[in-house]
Amino acid sequence: MLVDQGGVCALCRTAPAAHVDHDHATGGVRELLCFNCNGGLGQFKDDPALLRAAARYVEAHRAGQLAGPFPGQQRWPTG
Ligand SMILES: [Zn+2]
Repeated sequence: MLVDQGGVCALCRTAPAAHVDHDHATGGVRELLCFNCNGGLGQFKDDPALLRAAARYVEAHRAGQLAGPFPGQQRWPTG
């Protein structure tokens, strides 16, 4: 697997592959990840919806057009 990935993380494809990533629901091995990418998935609870929301959030704010909720997101609760 390490050779197949060229020795680098399956996500960022730059940092050394250092962790065997598992699907925590099934226990199955996915691919090799670096320390940061492996930790990032864990921080987002391996939740694809939450990971997509995080990507949209970063992209929306990176565009410099938003100071609050991004398109498709509800306004923040007011009370
Ligand atoms: Zn990585």
